[in-house]
Amino acid sequence: MKKTGLIALFCLLSLKSFCWGFFGHQRINYYSVFLLPPEMMVLFKANVLFLSDHSVDPDKRRYAIKEEGPRHYIDIDRYGTHPYPALPRKWEDAIKKYGEDTILANGIVPWHIQVMQGRLTAAFKEKNQAKILKYAAEIGHYIADSHVPLHASGNHDGQLTNQKGIHGFWESRVPEMLAEKTFDFMIGKAKYIDNIPGYVWDRVLESGASADTVLRFEAELSKQFTTDRKYGFEERNGKITRQYSSDFTAAYNTKLNGMVERRMRLSILSVASFWYTAWVNAGQPNLKNLNNVAFSQEDLLEFEQLNTDWKTGQFKGREHN
Ligand SMILES: [Zn+2]
Repeated sequence: MKKTGLIALFCLLSLKSFCWGFFGHQRINYYSVFLLPPEMMVLFKANVLFLSDHSVDPDKRRYAIKEEGPRHYIDIDRYGTHPYPALPRKWEDAIKKYGEDTILANGIVPWHIQVMQGRLTAAFKEKNQAKILKYAAEIGHYIADSHVPLHASGNHDGQLTNQKGIHGFWESRVPEMLAEKTFDFMIGKAKYIDNIPGYVWDRVLESGASADTVLRFEAELSKQFTTDRKYGFEERNGKITRQYSSDFTAAYNTKLNGMVERRMRLSILSVASFWYTAWVNAGQPNLKNLNNVAFSQEDLLEFEQLNTDWKTGQFKGREHN
């Protein structure tokens, strides 16, 4: 027992970095399940561990293919100023105006969520259990990423303002230290989303609008902390590494007045609401009675390949986005 625990702990510590952190994405998909109606719970609760484990597949895929990177962010401030009227919300119009290369370089999360919602809805219509679970787990990732302020900013890791590391600080260090102990995850029920594109863009605009606060507050707080109080040393991956100190993390969270918790709670509500909306739009199929209940050999190979690429591959595209 002890040995298994130690191995599990070692695996946990040796994971490479993720958006929202390994911890955040898994928790978001996990808690989302409990906002669903009973007709959906029969499938989703029974597979809650799959849904939380596979919430990080899109990040693993970033070690396999370069096309994956842009699906996780949008540097929306490259398109003018809030609320970015110059940027067409429709994919075809955006491509026509800026060209596909520019749109891809600046990130495509709002459009990719809509593509994934189409796939999930089709999977419900087909009553294909394997696809429903796979797409539900993955869309949860992209939706959660779109709620992170620095996923909607060109200064995505404070690289332009000498604040490198702030990306992981906001989305990993703060929730890992505080979520389980202090965040409230009683959220209510999934809601039907009438206007999917409108909903997606609203969340992305909110994220983009908060990025300035995320950066500014860290800079202000840094002036009140000496370097040796701002950072501490902790063991990670079997190595002693420099980390934002507990005091600095707690002070930042207080200064943000609960922003990380609010975005995490809204991510959970959004993920559950997209799942619920896809199911309703597919005609509310009975989830007790589905096809393709087991994953195909192809699916299993893909999961295995994702793990191999992620453990041994090189990150493709930019880190921290
Ligand atoms: Zn991501």
